[in-house]
Amino acid sequence: MIPRDHPRYHSLMQREKLARGYEQGVVVLEGLIAHGRGEAFDYLLGETTIEPARRAIRAAAASLLLASSPVISVNGNTAALCAKELVRLAKEAGAKLEVNLFYRSTERARRIAELLRRAGAEEVLGVEPEAEIPSLSSQRRLVARQGIYSADVVLLAIEDGDRTEALVDMGKRVIAIDLNPLSRTARRASITIVDEVTRALPLLTRELARLRGLGRPELKRRASFDNSANLREVLSYIARRLEEFRPEDF
Ligand code: ATP
Repeated sequence: MIPRDHPRYHSLMQREKLARGYEQGVVVLEGLIAHGRGEAFDYLLGETTIEPARRAIRAAAASLLLASSPVISVNGNTAALCAKELVRLAKEAGAKLEVNLFYRSTERARRIAELLRRAGAEEVLGVEPEAEIPSLSSQRRLVARQGIYSADVVLLAIEDGDRTEALVDMGKRVIAIDLNPLSRTARRASITIVDEVTRALPLLTRELARLRGLGRPELKRRASFDNSANLREVLSYIARRLEEFRPEDF
């Protein structure tokens, strides 16, 4: 039992969720390593949603509202960490949820779909995928025809760069949530939200509700986004933070 007043309560709870996800066959060991990489970058950000991430969230919300068939791609880590938030976002965005796994087995995909259903999802795609993303050899190429395959906007988190690249090459607008501003995913996505996934999702859902009702021209204006410039701002933020670091402030 993690005491609520522990200074790293949130971070420890997340680790516990992932460890439980591993025991339930939802998370794979490699997913735990990927989380560790994320945690390291979150330290550099100060474990907070920084302004460039908020800007990316605003553009992402406008893009989701403009989309005709948006899809949220779910993997083991995101399902274990924030199934409810994923379902809430999908409802607010009118988006489909699709399971997509690097270390894929039908059993694991089924477990993740079940977790999402228990969190309130009505439909979950990707358990029996019938289409393939061209130019991708990993298991992540397997997708639902009515889901990721035909989506115009795909939101993904904790993803590897190959599939992000392949989705962008298919002409899709890719919104990525990734704590590492240097990753291939971060650099290749159309909009990268450099933030922790459980912090970013509720903010994105709230922004969608706030922007609903705006006309398409205004949404288009808000969806326009310079991802490289934004990533540069994230890196400057981190660099400044390190420059100004004083051990006694912690
Ligand atoms: P790429 O192929 O894009 O360069 P990678 O090889 O780092 O990325 P993975 O090993 O799949 O890809 O790592 C997943 C990414 O997810 C990492 O960049 C990590 O920083 C990020 N990440 C891990 N946990 C979280 C989290 N909770 N929220 C947001 N991002 C996370």
